Amino acid sequence: MSLFQCEECGCVDNTATSGYWFRNDKGNPCQGRKLCAACDPTIGKWHDVFKREYLPKGDFFTNRQGNLEHKTTGQLSHEYVAGVKP
Ligand SMILES: [Zn+2]
Repeated sequence: MSLFQCEECGCVDNTATSGYWFRNDKGNPCQGRKLCAACDPTIGKWHDVFKREYLPKGDFFTNRQGNLEHKTTGQLSHEYVAGVKP
């Protein structure tokens, strides 16, 4: 399980709480895009397993530990959300 950034809204979701693994399925309206549960038309609502936190869209990537890391500062998403200085 790992975190990823939604390509539509920029929020943090987990591969286990979203349609992440089905995004490339034939006929899936996500058309391969990494979408959070709320943006995924096949789910359409947030799961409330954890709070929906928004990050600057496109600025984070999933690192080898499965955490979201800022592309330039190396800051992790939970540090960014907490307001920790990079
Ligand atoms: Zn989203």
